[in-house]
Amino acid sequence: MKNFSELGVEQSLLNAIQELGFENPTPIQEQTIPVFLETGRDILGLAQTGTGKTAAFGLPILQLLDPAARHIQSLVICPTRELCMQISRDLASYSKFKPGINVVAVYGGASIERQISDIKRGAHIIVATPGRLMDLMSRKAINIKNVNFVVLDEADEMLNMGFEEDVEYILGHTPDEKRVCLFSATMPKAIRNIANRYMNDAVEISVGKSNSGNVNITHQYSVVHAKDKYAALKRYVDFNSDNLYCIIFCTTKNETQDISDKLIKDGYNADCLHGDLSQAQREKVMNRFRHHAIKILLATDVAARGIDVSGLTHVIHYHLPDDIENYTHRSGRTGRAGKLGVSFTLLHMREGGRLKDIERISNIKFEKVLIPSAMDVRDKKLLAFTDTIINTEIEESIFDAQVMTGLESLMSLEKDELLKKFLSLELRRFSVDFANEPDLNIGAAGDRGSRDGASSKGYRGSRIFVSLGKKDGFDIRSFKDWVADSANISWKDLHVDVSGVYSFVDAKDEHVPSILKALNGITYKDRLVRAEVSGDKKGGSGSYGGGGGGSYGGGRGGRRSDSSEGGSGRSYGGERRVRERSGGGERSEGGFSGRRRSESFGGGGDRAAKPKRRYD
Ligand code: AMP
Repeated sequence: MKNFSELGVEQSLLNAIQELGFENPTPIQEQTIPVFLETGRDILGLAQTGTGKTAAFGLPILQLLDPAARHIQSLVICPTRELCMQISRDLASYSKFKPGINVVAVYGGASIERQISDIKRGAHIIVATPGRLMDLMSRKAINIKNVNFVVLDEADEMLNMGFEEDVEYILGHTPDEKRVCLFSATMPKAIRNIANRYMNDAVEISVGKSNSGNVNITHQYSVVHAKDKYAALKRYVDFNSDNLYCIIFCTTKNETQDISDKLIKDGYNADCLHGDLSQAQREKVMNRFRHHAIKILLATDVAARGIDVSGLTHVIHYHLPDDIENYTHRSGRTGRAGKLGVSFTLLHMREGGRLKDIERISNIKFEKVLIPSAMDVRDKKLLAFTDTIINTEIEESIFDAQVMTGLESLMSLEKDELLKKFLSLELRRFSVDFANEPDLNIGAAGDRGSRDGASSKGYRGSRIFVSLGKKDGFDIRSFKDWVADSANISWKDLHVDVSGVYSFVDAKDEHVPSILKALNGITYKDRLVRAEVSGDKKGGSGSYGGGGGGSYGGGRGGRRSDSSEGGSGRSYGGERRVRERSGGGERSEGGFSGRRRSESFGGGGDRAAKPKRRYD
């Protein structure tokens, strides 16, 4: 691989990109920059967002322009104002050490007068959306007759948005001898037509056909009734809430606003982006999203175009896009820069055919997953909560005399009562009757409308509690292997959740006796192991999704079930733990209460031995 200098990039630009942390060129940069700088030919680039194409055309444009010439030398046309602002920001930062270059962004939704005066002050590069550029042209406020370079960025998206005629009009008003550089994530016929008409002998550069090439993205779907979509969305979000940072795509402005309003009302950290918002509102939303003040962004395809946000864990399709190509654009917003991402689609039954079309055309393999049951969501949240408590470092310095006085009332409670209260508070926060929430998967018990045989075959088995966990040196994989080996069954027939001091094993009913026989009462590292069937059957959404043969949605990149911290123990809190402790004796260092907690509450030793005072 050549470095930027070997590609011919000049020193002032090298200094800037070094400051930005670009160490090596991305594939599109490696292929585009030398052609741009050395050959004088047009370029037809097949590349999606996030591949580094802005620098691929931006660096050569900056290098080749003449700061002393006071006319517009390069024109970059892109579909949305967000992308427009982003490209102009990027160009400005690449040219930080090349003084005297003016980049002006012109886009709708902002004051045209101000843009006109910016242009009048002298612009070397114009970055524009087609509509605003046409407007400026009709007002004779811009002269593009002398441009040397025209870049069409995200050309397929411009056509999707109905800008074909505008783009052709604009190209028709540029000089014949200009060079054209066209980038597109897909190459439909209409793009080829433009290329044929407005480009000469273009060098074709491709960096991966579509997101199918992006192995970092896992494509998943669940099938629910249309009326259950919102509830299913919330379940999915809840189940993944520990790391979720996502865009949810809707089809219309109304739907975007509506779902966003509902989520906010239901206490989620969400907001929306669509064409009815003012520019100032959109920028505000984007800023908050970029800074993680909002974790869930609802957006239409158009509004989300050009948004470059790093670190998205999920892209969620509340509906599949009308245009199949848009699925590629949407899902390409996650799984960037080597990180894993999930593209999750909520389908209702009639949309199945469209999913197949996407699979075929985009060469993507979808994995079917189940919407977690409410109990699964509850259990996952509780596991996270208990683990947080267990792992919280105690700050002795805050326990001064006054705080200790406040704690006195808590210390008067029995351990198990105190813990039950803690967990009750945590559960009450969700104000849901978890046990009675319906299974939202089509084909689930009680769903008479199902025509989806696959999902109704979803795993239904039992859940076994095992008194070993991370504290005993297990992680999910090693625990699964250990259980499978001990019970002489295949690890593929098991799903496990491993917590700090205990674990759960989900298994088909036929395997339960051998697991109990193999584990219950044995000694592991000098510890007596307890294994027993948990209070309920593993109902609702089973661990093993119907068609997909895999876990729940969420988590990262195809290793969902193995990396899931979420478990579904049925008996949290007080009773089980306390019984366990008094039986096992050795768990105090990792368990719910025991010595460590008693001591830190004020060195009171064994709280249970104290007479019980009640203040409530
Ligand atoms: P783009 O596809 O141009 O929108 O770029 C996607 C992201 O990758 C942006 O955040 C760029 O700043 C970043 N980027 C572009 N080129 C490089 C590079 N060579 N090394 C590291 N990051 C890059």
